Amino acid sequence: MAQNFKENGYILCNENENPDIVIVNTCTVTNIADRKSRQILRKVKEENKNAIVVAVGCYVQVSSENLSQMPEVDIILGNSEKKEIVKKVEQFILEHKPSTQIIDVNKEKDFLEMGAITFTEKTRATIKIQDGCNNFCTYCLIPYARGRVRSRKKQNVIKEVQEISKKGIQEIVITGIHIASYGIDFEESYRLIDLIEDLNKIEGIKRIRLGSLEPSLVTEEFAQRLSKLEKVCNHFHLSLQSGCNETLKRMNRKYTCEEFVNVTRNFKKIL
Ligand code: SF4
Repeated sequence: MAQNFKENGYILCNENENPDIVIVNTCTVTNIADRKSRQILRKVKEENKNAIVVAVGCYVQVSSENLSQMPEVDIILGNSEKKEIVKKVEQFILEHKPSTQIIDVNKEKDFLEMGAITFTEKTRATIKIQDGCNNFCTYCLIPYARGRVRSRKKQNVIKEVQEISKKGIQEIVITGIHIASYGIDFEESYRLIDLIEDLNKIEGIKRIRLGSLEPSLVTEEFAQRLSKLEKVCNHFHLSLQSGCNETLKRMNRKYTCEEFVNVTRNFKKIL
């Protein structure tokens, strides 16, 4: 979103630099995140009385009614409307009418392609490869806020990483909502490990890190293939959630404690 504004001639600034437009990308992962999202929206309006305040993201997606009652918020956009953000802000500048646009993400079938990131101030780039989750853990709202699994086309991921590497960025972090599901919605058989193998070949990239991994993905074959990729950092974030099988079952997690231990043993043995 920052890049879209930049490409349209806007200047990016911090919230203490008297902004004309403030974008708050909200979160709904816990009820504390919901509360913080509301607090931040109030705070930015209080501190920037004349600024246009835009709320986007997951809290918006699942709680738009609460947000529409907040006078501090001028524009409310769901997750699928992020690509339209510049257009929506410019429409508001012309019409001065508060607006809300939220598409039901549960009906979305394709990954929302925001284009390659060419603007970054960091030495490592975060590369999003998929959105959504089909797991429906009982405690989690994410499948409702993000919809079903939509994987990004491999050629778009590879192109983005190639462009990032041309800018001198050597480290990438592969991220998504549930990266273990990457490719399950493709017709061809192309999964996370295939993508990592292709990214490992890109010249200029020196380190590849992976976001949180579902333990059931880590088969012996996955670990074997990963161990041959010299750029993948040996640091893995496996979500355990509970050490009690009964609780894991109630959480609708797809593994037992014993399977989790096996996964970590595979990693230790092979990597
Ligand atoms: S796998 Fe993760 S994102 Fe998906 S429902 Fe479970 S906790 Fe939520």
